[in-house]
Amino acid sequence: MNSVEQQLNAQKTLYREIFLKSVDEIQKRLDEIKPAGFSGELLDKYVPASEGYIWQEKALNLLNGEISQEVFRKLQEILAYRDMFKCEGCATCCRLACSEFSYEELKEKAKNGDKFAQQFTSVFIPYETIEEAEAVYPAYIELLRGKVEGDVYFYHCPKLTEDNRCSDYENRPQICRDFPDNPLAVLPEKCGYRAWKDEINPVALMLHSMVEIIDFYKDKLKEVL
Ligand code: SF4
Ligand code: SF4
Repeated sequence: MNSVEQQLNAQKTLYREIFLKSVDEIQKRLDEIKPAGFSGELLDKYVPASEGYIWQEKALNLLNGEISQEVFRKLQEILAYRDMFKCEGCATCCRLACSEFSYEELKEKAKNGDKFAQQFTSVFIPYETIEEAEAVYPAYIELLRGKVEGDVYFYHCPKLTEDNRCSDYENRPQICRDFPDNPLAVLPEKCGYRAWKDEINPVALMLHSMVEIIDFYKDKLKEVL
């Protein structure tokens, strides 16, 4: 098992623990707004304007409002904290980017106004072969080969010079300036943001679990309301 795989397995175990805690926490908050003495369950079907129905409406508001705002605020905090760390210039993120979309699909998305796809295709081009991508970060490619369902496409940026410098630094797109903007992304071992990622990892997992639980409740509540 390579180090990336070990890292991801440890993440999965930790995530399971954190997820269960978040379920309890959110469930507690939804129970706190339950009408006193009411014995029904949140996801049961109730007639409009009944006690149970009003509880469901309040629960949906709580999930969409206060709880979602907390997640957003905390995410902004951990992203702002990233500025305390710095890029070490290893250039791995310029040499290897991956996407579930092919270059043609990304181009199409960009044409249809997708901002991320527009920026991505403004700098990245596809590798001709997986072996070229593998040479950049072998452990990562090996992991993706075994674990990811569906297609993964690998890209690199031709604006990178041989001495690992960005030849168009002043005009690099926002996605380059913001990297890494996903606290749960796998980062290369030498990345200067690994320490940031490790430090905020439990919070990032907690936020991810909260988003999953919020979405679950929102979907279920929409079915019964
Ligand atoms: S534009 Fe510059 S910073 Fe962005 S991926 Fe290319 S080389 Fe890297
Ligand atoms: S992988 Fe990390 S350290 Fe390397 S260039 Fe990208 S941001 Fe900088």
